[in-house]
Amino acid sequence: MPLSSLKIVGFKSFADPTTLNFAPGVTGIVGPNGSGKSNITEAVRWAMGEQSAKGLRGERMPDVIFAGTQLRPPLNLAEVTLIFDNRGRALKNDADTLEITRKIFRDGESEFYINKKACRLKDIASLFMDSGIGKESFSIISQGKVEAIFNSRAEDRRSIIEETAGVHQYKVQKDTALQK
Ligand code: ATP
Ligand code: MG
Repeated sequence: MPLSSLKIVGFKSFADPTTLNFAPGVTGIVGPNGSGKSNITEAVRWAMGEQSAKGLRGERMPDVIFAGTQLRPPLNLAEVTLIFDNRGRALKNDADTLEITRKIFRDGESEFYINKKACRLKDIASLFMDSGIGKESFSIISQGKVEAIFNSRAEDRRSIIEETAGVHQYKVQKDTALQK
């Protein structure tokens, strides 16, 4: 289920609209220190619903908006769009192409969209649940995560295996059913 394209506007160091198109296979992103490589992976995580500003190296969520430089004033909007090729139906939606967009304004909450239709964060989460590419999944392994997995408690390691094996969704459904 390939991520075919990533569009970034006003997110962190990406003040100008930037589009990255990913060819099939492995993509490497290289560049000098501070050039924005980590900001790209953070843009992907953010659009998939990341809720922790600290997890994005900020204090508050609006910190992801371009803060300005000596030469450029700050912006008031950050917007990231992920475009997935869903012909294999890896994501739970009946469209061949899926555009996931997240926006945030300086004073506001995040807005989420699936194929340009406004939706809830919950809809984004259920789209990715057990696809193996959710924001909590192991498709994104940040620095320090490898060590954390090795050092985790048995129960935590079990939940990692459950998420990877795809049984996590049934646990969530069971918990929801039991609460009713
Ligand atoms: P390294 O090789 O050191 O890991 P990197 O290529 O991963 O570097 P990033 O951490 O992605 O670099 O980018 C850091 C840059 O992004 C810094 O110059 C920082 O000032 C800039 N930056 C981060 N947040 C914002 C923001 N909200 N507005 C403007 N610039 C930002
Ligand atoms: Mg980095």
